[in-house]
Amino acid sequence: MNIHEYQGKAVLKKFGVPVAHGLPAFTVDEAVAAAEELGGPVWVVKAQIHAGGRGKGGGVKVVKSIDEVRSEAERMLGMTLVTHQTGPDGKTVHRIYVEEGSSISRELYLSCLVDRETSRIAFIASTEGGMDIEQVAHDTPEKIFTMTIDPATGICPHHVRSMSKALKLEAGQPKQLGSMLNGIYKAVTGTDMSLLEINPLVVTGDGDLLCLDAKVNFDSNALYRHPEIEELHDETEEDPKELEASKYDLSYIALDGTIGCMVNGAGLAMATMDIIKLYGEEPANFLDVGGGATTEKVTAAFKIITSDPQVKGILVNIFGGIMRCDVIAQGVIAAVREVGLEVPLVVRLEGTNVEKGKKIIEDSGLNVIAADDLDDAAQKVVKAVGEAA
Ligand code: GDP
Ligand code: MN
Repeated sequence: MNIHEYQGKAVLKKFGVPVAHGLPAFTVDEAVAAAEELGGPVWVVKAQIHAGGRGKGGGVKVVKSIDEVRSEAERMLGMTLVTHQTGPDGKTVHRIYVEEGSSISRELYLSCLVDRETSRIAFIASTEGGMDIEQVAHDTPEKIFTMTIDPATGICPHHVRSMSKALKLEAGQPKQLGSMLNGIYKAVTGTDMSLLEINPLVVTGDGDLLCLDAKVNFDSNALYRHPEIEELHDETEEDPKELEASKYDLSYIALDGTIGCMVNGAGLAMATMDIIKLYGEEPANFLDVGGGATTEKVTAAFKIITSDPQVKGILVNIFGGIMRCDVIAQGVIAAVREVGLEVPLVVRLEGTNVEKGKKIIEDSGLNVIAADDLDDAAQKVVKAVGEAA
């Protein structure tokens, strides 16, 4: 789960990591009030969306008067912000963050993430902050510094020394970095973050380290341990179909293709997507209804698939192990009755109560194409979509 920059900074602040003072605002009046409270003389107005690259897209403005705060707030709230991370459709700005302006002498890069290769927390740092770090890594990999932390020791003085050297820190800055790294390590492990990216981490005009941006991602599977973080979830940032799916505990990811898939089990779902591609079409989604799906769950899943205008055909591929084929059949029929069916539907059932399931579908009188196995099912749905087009 992602959160907004201002929320990420609030979490960092709790762990003693230095961030500037700022206040979120949902309206222009709130933004002006925030600016008055912060006092100036320089403010930064920042669009809060779950995507980076806002600066280049016009979503970050440094201003020097309350009037400018007002006009920037008016411009940003409600705007569609397009950055290299939002995709061409961009994202609507529903909230902004008004922060006291900071003077910058250097922009650095710092991130912390779970490194699966070493099974440790890794830190990545670079002197090339404020830019696209992927580009830096590609063009000048020697400017990327990486270190991993042994969970038994945590952050040690040598970690701080190596990173300070890599970042060319001076005077009292290594000491500040030490306390920052300890705070970040505690924040990441203590709240189950999977990624924390501070780009830029700046050296201010006074020579102090300060986090100017914060991109935070949490491990969704650990959110039950952090109800206060789960509350930060901003539903407006999500694909409505994925949101609906999460309410029914369905594993659903929207994709760009034309064939909607309803499958049980992640492995079978992947295989189904592969075989659709093999026969020349693209899946419209990944959807795992899980092992113990009920009729309601299947109905919800079906509705989510049919609500996608990109879907030109549906493939239901269920292996009834724990899941019974008759339950799936009932769910499919209930859903079709409720939402109608405007595209070809191919159903392949196998496993427990398969005969019962097939009979329920036959007796329904609905226009369902039955398939015997996965290969047959994939060919049939690809053919049906081709004929309909
Ligand atoms: P992003 O473009 O979405 O990553 O947004 P950032 O929060 O990183 O802001 C983009 C850029 O705006 C930063 O790299 C800075 O150069 C600049 N910026 C942000 N806050 C301040 C500030 O307080 N003072 C000044 N002078 N520049 C800022
Ligand atoms: Mn940034």
